[in-house]
Amino acid sequence: MGANNRRFTMRQLMELDACTRCGECLKACETYGRLGTDLTAPAGKLKQFRAILMGEGRGIFFSRLFQKAPAEAEMQDFAKGVYSCTLCSRCAEVCPAKIDLLGLWFSMRNDLADRGVHPQNLNTARDAIVATRNVVNWPNAERASWVDYMMQAPEDLYQRETAEVLYYVGCMSSFSPAIQNIPQAFVQVLEKAGVDFTILGEKEWCCGFPLKAAGMRDLAEELIAHNIEMVRKVGAKTVIFNCPSCYNTWIKEYTPRMPDVEMLHSSQFIARLIKDGRLRPKTLEMTVTYHDPCDLGRNSGVYRAPREVIASVPGLTLKEPPATAERAHCCGGGGDLEIVDAGLARDVSLASYYALLKSGAEAIVTGCPQCTRMFRTSAQKSDNKVEVLDLTELILKSIE
Ligand code: SF4
Ligand code: SF4
Repeated sequence: MGANNRRFTMRQLMELDACTRCGECLKACETYGRLGTDLTAPAGKLKQFRAILMGEGRGIFFSRLFQKAPAEAEMQDFAKGVYSCTLCSRCAEVCPAKIDLLGLWFSMRNDLADRGVHPQNLNTARDAIVATRNVVNWPNAERASWVDYMMQAPEDLYQRETAEVLYYVGCMSSFSPAIQNIPQAFVQVLEKAGVDFTILGEKEWCCGFPLKAAGMRDLAEELIAHNIEMVRKVGAKTVIFNCPSCYNTWIKEYTPRMPDVEMLHSSQFIARLIKDGRLRPKTLEMTVTYHDPCDLGRNSGVYRAPREVIASVPGLTLKEPPATAERAHCCGGGGDLEIVDAGLARDVSLASYYALLKSGAEAIVTGCPQCTRMFRTSAQKSDNKVEVLDLTELILKSIE
């Protein structure tokens, strides 16, 4: 498919002209902070993309007089900058012109993938999802193997024909040994609260986020249709997620097609269970800091629920880090950056880990398996190691 303007709304084309070059986004961007090149600067990408469109005679305000198609090497360089990004939205958060930068990054990736100039290792992830229905390229029949490693699992292995609540586990928590303890903890929390829930096992397919972040949103259609069919089959009224990227994808892509089904992040669901008296946290004498995952906080607007859960545990003290909530740092693991440039993702993660340590807390708590995994790796590399916990693990500790 050739590149065309259907990837951009009229508003987005106008937004390319709205940048005032104030430079606020440059100060906020953690990948630009490391790479320092014009093409990794958020404002630099807008400027360059505007020039590309102008050269192609596309867009609404671009004169055909200056038409000059971009050279292949120029497009490759530009693509490198667009994909050296975690889709964290720190740039959008500070932009005084209120440009929807995240929307533009997604549209630019769609445009670049249409042209075939996206980073080629994203094709490996794409092929894995198409072939196996998960991003880690593992047989999907083993999607629920984390249940086999649990000391006490029910005979049905949490896979029930019908249930009020569907727990959508996500690829990373299902397959990555470093974080399989998160779904293991969450199903125990749900059991203790007496929730009527099920998981899908091998019938759960990737939510489509890695394809969307790669600029291959159209390929996610089949996954979305399948997962929706599974929700209907189970008859669930609520779908819950540990992974904020899955949660955000379901809200944006699935909810318009099934508005009657409620979508909740695990922090919201746990907060509700506590309010309803179905979970009663016991004392945990500990100081923790909370890391706001980008796809939960800035990209989905969920800040309160995780803090309510932490506040509900007697003895637990929350020490906010210097940069928190809307200004929280990024763990480095978002936006497919780990696939595109693992070294850059690790650098961003380590810097954010040290920033969280400035809170002086004994442990880092977050609400995202990917953040947990990134920070656990950073802790291993650091000379100051603290425990990194997902909120579900923390709440399990307090109710056990
Ligand atoms: S989304 Fe994050 S990484 Fe990407 S340009 Fe904006 S601040 Fe930088
Ligand atoms: S913060 Fe917004 S207006 Fe300022 S340079 Fe960045 S994109 Fe342009």
